[in-house]
Amino acid sequence: MIRCERNGVVFYEFETLALYPQVLHAIFTRIGGKSSEPFCSLNVGQWVGDEPTAVQANHDLIFQTLGIQPGQVVTAHQVHGARVAIAEAAQQDTIIPATDSLISQRRGVALLLRFADCLPLMLYDPQRQAIALAHVGWRGCLAGVAVNTLAEMGRAFGCEPRDMLAGLGPAIGPCCYEVGPDVLTGVEQALGGNGGLLLAQPDGTTHLNLPAAVRQQLQEAGVQKIEDSGLCTHCHTTEFFSHRAEKGRTGRFAAILALRE
Ligand SMILES: [Zn+2]
Repeated sequence: MIRCERNGVVFYEFETLALYPQVLHAIFTRIGGKSSEPFCSLNVGQWVGDEPTAVQANHDLIFQTLGIQPGQVVTAHQVHGARVAIAEAAQQDTIIPATDSLISQRRGVALLLRFADCLPLMLYDPQRQAIALAHVGWRGCLAGVAVNTLAEMGRAFGCEPRDMLAGLGPAIGPCCYEVGPDVLTGVEQALGGNGGLLLAQPDGTTHLNLPAAVRQQLQEAGVQKIEDSGLCTHCHTTEFFSHRAEKGRTGRFAAILALRE
């Protein structure tokens, strides 16, 4: 990814998506906002206990950074599920309930989701001019949110996985993501055997490689061009919020994806 800074606000861009001038995208960090401890400082989580005025100011900052208006934004109430919603002009300035994936072909619609260890997945189809932004934690991964997103883009927009560019943003990495028996069983059932996704540690615990699991699902569905940030949120809490590293008392960083008007 490419690290960018504009007026003190730090964000990342995927190298592959940055080559397309019609795509506007950013994965923000926690740097450059208005919130104080433990939400310092660019928190966009509205339900984490932060001051609403600071959260609003942080939204204004990220919109200014990208040159978009609040009225362009479509966001969702994220529930670690597998539901996909189509974002049209009618959904701008609204919060779509119980949804972890937003897709659109509408220019000017800015998709916004929030993260702190779960994986931000961006998809862009240059042939059909379609985009998707998904929130993928282990539950959503096993429930098939990435696969559902590809299927819905195919159904609604005629997209083909082989045309897609995928970006896997900063998420808790295989270095840090200790998981319990429920996740182990789920991964073995949903993703077939181990395949390097589950990593036995010297201390007897097991770590999940969430980015590799999402990559495997995308590849099995036919996506060939995948950029993985390789950034672990748990290892980099100076840049990113990490729910696990900060024991639940933390903020959320924003990912935004749009087709320019
Ligand atoms: Zn790590």
